Amino acid sequence: MIFIQRRYYSDPWLQELHTKVLASRQEGDANLVVLEETIFYPTGGGQPHDLGSINGIPLLDVFEQDGTIYHVLEEALQGDEALCLLDWPRRFDHMQQHSGQHLLSAVFHDCYGYSTESFHLGEEYCTIDLATPSLLEKEQREAEAKANDVIFSDLTLTHYTLESSERDRVPLRKVPDLAGPLRIVEIDGFDYSPCAGTHVKSTGQIGLVKIMKCEKYKGMTRVYFVCGNRALHDYRRKQAICLDLGSLLSVPDDELYERVGLELKRKQDLEREVTELRTELMDFKAQDIVAQSKSPFFVDMPTATIEEAQQQARSILNLATGLVIVSLAQRIVLMHNQPDELHLGQIVREIAQRLGGRGGGSATSAQVYFPVLAEYNQFLDRLKTDLF
Ligand SMILES: [Zn+2]
Repeated sequence: MIFIQRRYYSDPWLQELHTKVLASRQEGDANLVVLEETIFYPTGGGQPHDLGSINGIPLLDVFEQDGTIYHVLEEALQGDEALCLLDWPRRFDHMQQHSGQHLLSAVFHDCYGYSTESFHLGEEYCTIDLATPSLLEKEQREAEAKANDVIFSDLTLTHYTLESSERDRVPLRKVPDLAGPLRIVEIDGFDYSPCAGTHVKSTGQIGLVKIMKCEKYKGMTRVYFVCGNRALHDYRRKQAICLDLGSLLSVPDDELYERVGLELKRKQDLEREVTELRTELMDFKAQDIVAQSKSPFFVDMPTATIEEAQQQARSILNLATGLVIVSLAQRIVLMHNQPDELHLGQIVREIAQRLGGRGGGSATSAQVYFPVLAEYNQFLDRLKTDLF
């Protein structure tokens, strides 16, 4: 193990650093570099690794193995001097989310006794899994309010190391199984958590904690949340949606829900009315068709759906005995109510499929689709000339 100064702990605000290269080597496709000191946090404790550059070469990954921190670079590094530049917006975002997580977990623990079993800091949102099969909406609301109260109180965050014998000195929220010294992150008198991550200086820098939703997960409750800038971006996005919807429907956003409900109801009523009118129209059409022709009845409905074509065929067969052939765009629907042995599904399988059609059906009802227009026309011609 090489002793490396972890500057991300001693000065989490350091964004630029000149240091020495201790080792540089290629492993497979990866260009690995070990530095004397580093400002780049390696993946661990639920917090993703930092990004940035070393001598202008983009950093792809940072990980720790056997106490050594490896920087994975896009290209091999030349020389033994390193100028490190940290992707600060990414790091600060991770600090806001991670400190926010400690705070939210502490509130759920203190108010309801729900311990946090795991933490995930994702690209878009964070989650904690609480050891409770369910969470009341009231508890969710109260915990969010309490966490934000602590943010507004601007409590200081500090970190320090406790030896095994000193663990009793502070009321740890969770005692880990690990032996040896523990790095503790304390939210001034409010929460004491063993943690390897980087954190903001005071709760005020978390900005805001917003719970997005909660769901049941493997006997626990998964809480989705965002903090700080993520909460601001989320608010901005949702505000834009509300404004757009409001201007579309010409209502203020607090009336949106009611208005959308009314519009949906209106849509359902109209759909019902359209269905009734369509049925009526089809019955009229059927009367015309039956009066003017005889079986097989040919109907052309180029823009209809299969259901509409079937409905039209049924309305004709309600008035007459025979066979109905409805042609749609490259699709044909067949239906009959004759007492003979005519098997439409069989015709589709034996004749239409040989011509390139795809479909099938029962003795009295079948349908077939032709991907090629010429084959569709060919089958339609056969129906009109020699099949029946
Ligand atoms: Zn932590």
